[in-house]
Amino acid sequence: MVRPPFDNSYSRLPDRFFARVAPTPVPAPRLIRVNAPLAAELGLDPVWLASEEGVQVLAGNRVPETAEPIATAYAGHQFGGFVPQLGDGRAILLGELIDRHGVRRDVQLKGAGPTPYSRRGDGRAALGPVLREYLLSEAMAALGIPTTRALAAVATGERVRRETVLPGAVLARVASSHIRVGTFQFFASRGDVEGLRTLADHVIARHYPDAAGAERPYRALLEAVVRAQAELIARWLLVGFIHGVMNTDNMAIAGETIDYGPCAFMDEYDPGAVFSSIDSYGRYAYANQPSIAQWNLVRLAECLLPLLSGTAAAAADEANEALDAFAPAFERAYHAGLGRKLGLLTERAGDPELAQGLLEAMASEAADFTLTFRRLSEADDDAAVRSLFADPAAFDAWAQRWRRRLQEEQGDPEARRAAMLAANPAIIPRNHRVEAVIRAAVDRDDFAPFEELLAVLATPFEPQPGFERYREPPATHERVHATFCGT
Ligand code: AMP
Ligand code: MG
Repeated sequence: MVRPPFDNSYSRLPDRFFARVAPTPVPAPRLIRVNAPLAAELGLDPVWLASEEGVQVLAGNRVPETAEPIATAYAGHQFGGFVPQLGDGRAILLGELIDRHGVRRDVQLKGAGPTPYSRRGDGRAALGPVLREYLLSEAMAALGIPTTRALAAVATGERVRRETVLPGAVLARVASSHIRVGTFQFFASRGDVEGLRTLADHVIARHYPDAAGAERPYRALLEAVVRAQAELIARWLLVGFIHGVMNTDNMAIAGETIDYGPCAFMDEYDPGAVFSSIDSYGRYAYANQPSIAQWNLVRLAECLLPLLSGTAAAAADEANEALDAFAPAFERAYHAGLGRKLGLLTERAGDPELAQGLLEAMASEAADFTLTFRRLSEADDDAAVRSLFADPAAFDAWAQRWRRRLQEEQGDPEARRAAMLAANPAIIPRNHRVEAVIRAAVDRDDFAPFEELLAVLATPFEPQPGFERYREPPATHERVHATFCGT
């Protein structure tokens, strides 16, 4: 057997960090897809992964010798309410691989069967959500946004019972780690300062090595996580992404987008957009994401208090100073990104207001977020852009301001156009396309639409002639109003 050379630093941590548990075999594993470039990046042979033996491993039916399968323990605030014990209820970490760039990465099977943390769940995943996570996480990666990755998807031949009976699947997921804000909460809520320190040291060594050399390493860790999250959320907003379930157990400490459940990309720009069927109060609406991320980071800071400066008051001051950096870091990343989207290669006073003016016109005139920016980048005249606005006059007024501002830019117009095309994707995973892919696979066992969508999402900034239909917003009857966790 080819042995993926797993090296498992997390399973060397104390026993209370996880439960050792093997995946539960499935009756009839069938490969849906292997992500060959990602496999190669991890030093795995994609041909072996797609072989009968590889598929047995991806399904959890065979455990490679070097793997040490575990389910990790974590807690978390779900929709604001604290749950002291969650943990991997349907995901099993096979182990860690050192990739081609020397980076340690987790390989996890999601849907691999029950664990001690499954509570009433069956430990399984349905095919639809597996395909959704595969598509969305790979789309985010192609957009250059930090994210977990999809290594492979396998159909299990097993039926899973949700609201209806659905085909089951397993997703092989790759992450820089699966450590979450909720992992810190697990130890903090138990008063386990020793565990907390061990976890923090592990995270510093693995994700934020610069913090190790800082005068106050745990404060530096908090600052680094705050910065990573501020930048991540800015990037979500700049592509119209709505995570949908930003619970503290779904916020990765390494700053990657994780746990794609009822997530979505917006079509027309709407700051209040909510797609998740379980988010009745819009807690995780598009424009709430920065403040929710900050709320989650306050929970992380609370966990770290025992590791910060001596007295309680001094520790609280340190935590608050670190947290205060979130808003300016987010604003900086967000406005710099909007500037790039508008072709502004320099920064001037008034630029944030200019960008805001466009967003307001888009919101009031139901203009498509992705298409507006893309057509601004491509079009020589305004016709293609203004037709996206219910009242095109709202665009005209803004366009005059934009053109005046562009005249202050020194750069050559062709260079500006190239920069805009590289900042404004043509193709995003629109909900109606994702739904159509899932319907074809689940209802008709047809994976051709999945393959095609995945292929166009791989180069989102390229023109891709012949695939223009993937740029289009949904027709009225194709609109998707709600997305589901499907767990
Ligand atoms: P999620 O909504 O995916 O972030 O999951 C929240 C918690 O529920 C985590 O502890 C999961 O492991 C657990 N969970 C979700 N779905 C299942 C399932 N089908 N079986 C067991 N546990 C689950
Ligand atoms: Mg989760």
